[in-house]
Amino acid sequence: STTAETRKFEAEVAQVLHLVTHSLYSHKEIFLRELISNASDACDKLRFEALAHPEWLADDAELRIDVSFDAAARTLSVHDNGIGMDRDELVANLGTIASSGTRRYLESLAADKKADSRLIGQFGVGFYSAFVVADRVTVTSRRAGTSASDGVRWESDGQGEYSLESVEVPKRGTTVTLHLKADESEFLETWKLRSLVSRYSDHIGFPIRMPKAVDGEATAEWETVNSASALWTRPKSELKDEDYQNFYKSLSHDFSDALTWTHNRVEGNQNFTSLLYIPAKAPFDFMNGREERKGLKLYIRRVFIMDASEQLLPAYLRFVRGVVDSDDLPLNVSREILQQNRQVERIRGACTKRVLDLLDKLAVDEAEKYATFWSAFGSVLKEGIAEDAGNRERIAKLLRFASTHSEGAAPSVSLDDYIGRMKAGQEIIWYITADSYAAAKGSPQLEALKAQGVEVLLMSDRIDEWMAGYLTEYAGKKLRHVGKGEIELDAAASEAHKASEEAASAVVARLKELLGERVRDVKVSRRLTESPSCLVLDEYDMALHLRRVLKQSGH
Ligand code: ADP
Ligand code: MG
Repeated sequence: STTAETRKFEAEVAQVLHLVTHSLYSHKEIFLRELISNASDACDKLRFEALAHPEWLADDAELRIDVSFDAAARTLSVHDNGIGMDRDELVANLGTIASSGTRRYLESLAADKKADSRLIGQFGVGFYSAFVVADRVTVTSRRAGTSASDGVRWESDGQGEYSLESVEVPKRGTTVTLHLKADESEFLETWKLRSLVSRYSDHIGFPIRMPKAVDGEATAEWETVNSASALWTRPKSELKDEDYQNFYKSLSHDFSDALTWTHNRVEGNQNFTSLLYIPAKAPFDFMNGREERKGLKLYIRRVFIMDASEQLLPAYLRFVRGVVDSDDLPLNVSREILQQNRQVERIRGACTKRVLDLLDKLAVDEAEKYATFWSAFGSVLKEGIAEDAGNRERIAKLLRFASTHSEGAAPSVSLDDYIGRMKAGQEIIWYITADSYAAAKGSPQLEALKAQGVEVLLMSDRIDEWMAGYLTEYAGKKLRHVGKGEIELDAAASEAHKASEEAASAVVARLKELLGERVRDVKVSRRLTESPSCLVLDEYDMALHLRRVLKQSGH
């Protein structure tokens, strides 16, 4: 029948449940943060849908989250009066895995089996974390706009099956009840729950209430235990680093701290608040995730509208996480409208500038953190050189490379560092691209410049060749690949070169004859001091490395 049934979890859910319960134990407290965050999302969704259906809010307009426990029954409940779920939604949301990121992650595990709890946390495992501390979870829900008899109860022990049953639910919303495992009694204590709420969920924009306790005994009266105002709406002076970090973690599902952030209120002909974070590490699969960008939430006058990372930031800043809250946009914006709205364009420009400013500051003030940023997201930022001509110079300033003057392969040299070390009269920033740092560093094409003590940037990131095609100039200096075109020599070297050209003229003529059509020209090299010969391209030819890349990919 449709009133009571038992279903199997989708195979991937069973897999996630297994991973979560076996690897999240050391972070088990996060279950409460996850359930509260879901309750808060549900309130956000209702507030948004109520724009079109004001009657859904009318009789019970104060959105809230209630946390309570029953020590005798060993249950802990998180209740919200948000959007609620009907039967189909319960099946879809708690019985299947929607995120393609999670699917890819699971596939990658099949290959090397080792699960990293930090990574698991990133994928909507939120709800399933309840099974770390509970041996049975009951979800009772009624969707906004449906009647009491449409209520549904979902229940599972997290072992592969769940049951569904129709029940009367007097009011809209969702209650998640955890039947705690025998050794999890610590979550049946008021002070413990309160300290978890204030540590992890203080920033939630809805009141989180708990029963008022008198002499350790719960009473029938509720009191609000969080600040209950969206974090980004609070004055900076009130907020501690820890508040920002906790908000970041609940926003990003990251277990580690953010590297840095910028929190701003813009007032003028356009009013909005932005809170933008730079993570310390790339999430799993980040480089493959270009098509499904997430992480920047758009609010309009505190109402959550949608994830709008794509509309509010350019692709090369897709590592940024955060919130934008606009006072001016119409609440009924659609994705299509966002795409071509002039106000949105201005917000996007302002956010881009904020992030670049933030990175600038980080590079100057905290070089070590900047190096962490660069190793996680440097190659993404490089895309901006091609994609954002308007900010090209600013992005170029943020680039870091290995060079013939720096120690080891770590990219630590900026273009400004390079310019600071240029020889008197040197007009060109020299670089070489290759498949690896070792290949770049060992290239015979560097010899002449090395002999003159001229620094060369060693580029070996896959994207470098492409990027360099757009980065032809910086701070008034031209950038040039050492393997292309002529290399200018100083006066002494020029004399010496003439002499060797004369001395070698017979050999050159013979080589031209032998190689014939296969080369355009044979010249006495200005590049080499040790190796006998090297291949050189005309200034506008594709570099050898790019040719190899294209050849490998079948071109
Ligand atoms: P995520 O929150 O990242 O989507 P979760 O595992 O935490 O992943 O939750 C899965 C889905 O279940 C949510 O996206 C939401 O649709 C639904 N859900 C969970 N808790 C609630 C709730 N309290 N009210 C309404 N829907 C909920
Ligand atoms: Mg969640």
